[in-house]
Amino acid sequence: MMQKVGIVGLGLIGGSLGLDLRSQGLTVLGVSRQWATCERAIARGIVDQASPDGALLAEADLIFLCAPIAQIAPTLQALVPHLQPATIVTDVGSVKAPIVEQCSPLWANFIGGHPMAGTEAQGVEAGQRDLFAQRPYVLTPTDQTEPDALETLSTVVKSLGSRLYLCEPAIHDRAVAWISHLPVMISASLIESCLGESDPAVKTLAQQLASSGLRDTRRVGGGNPELGLMMAQYNQAALLRSLGAYRDRLDELITQIEQQDWQSLGQTLQLTQQERPHYLR
Ligand code: NAP
Repeated sequence: MMQKVGIVGLGLIGGSLGLDLRSQGLTVLGVSRQWATCERAIARGIVDQASPDGALLAEADLIFLCAPIAQIAPTLQALVPHLQPATIVTDVGSVKAPIVEQCSPLWANFIGGHPMAGTEAQGVEAGQRDLFAQRPYVLTPTDQTEPDALETLSTVVKSLGSRLYLCEPAIHDRAVAWISHLPVMISASLIESCLGESDPAVKTLAQQLASSGLRDTRRVGGGNPELGLMMAQYNQAALLRSLGAYRDRLDELITQIEQQDWQSLGQTLQLTQQERPHYLR
């Protein structure tokens, strides 16, 4: 029976997992690079015990790796000498294929995961209760995944109130390129386009007039720059495919407006209004 859960990296996602899992009565053991973060995580009720030493996780039944994407495989490598073979290890990285490729050879009982929830905050103060409730949580098992381990992890994911999805790592990466990574890039380039306004009076007035439509579109582009960079680095092919398709749509839009083809533009907007509910649940 699942009793002890380890969390490595006590930031927004790791901290939020700790708060929810402890509230279910599980013992949560945290590993952070700094003692100050360990102490703060204990004080905030994120973990029962914490240490910079991976040996703390020797008896963990399940471990969540919650470091930045580039650090997930190195973190697992450093942890391996401390673990029992039965321990299930999962990660929370926003990209799956490269992580699963790197981590599977390091740990047979590794299952890739991606909780699709977040805020703009970072670090040990950012964790919050119920972050994952009603939100999708993707697990990416492979042919090598032990069915029992998948079952155990699935039960824990569902206990967070999340909607569980299972898929192949590469399919996950192509899907999130559309609905998560592309919006980050579009939003970032929207902000950059506004910054490019050369008339200071227009720029200042635009900032003063900016209201909810722009706020919604801009939100994700103003988030953690490291995360956006890693989405591009680790999901390069799928993101380029989505960006290319987006550029084609943008070219079409420019042509319609240049040619005053209001009928085609109207049809496009009608279609997007109709399709919007399929992208927002
Ligand atoms: P975060 O708040 O910045 O937390 C990341 C934590 O990783 C840090 O608090 C730090 O924990 C640890 N860390 C940082 N640099 C490290 C390094 N060089 N080596 C080892 N550990 C390091 O970020 P987050 O949003 O929780 O992101 C963590 C993971 O969640 C990422 O892989 C990201 O792709 C994924 N994710 C993020 C979101 C989101 O919206 N933010 C959503 C879904 C998934 P310590 O200080 O305790 O060591």
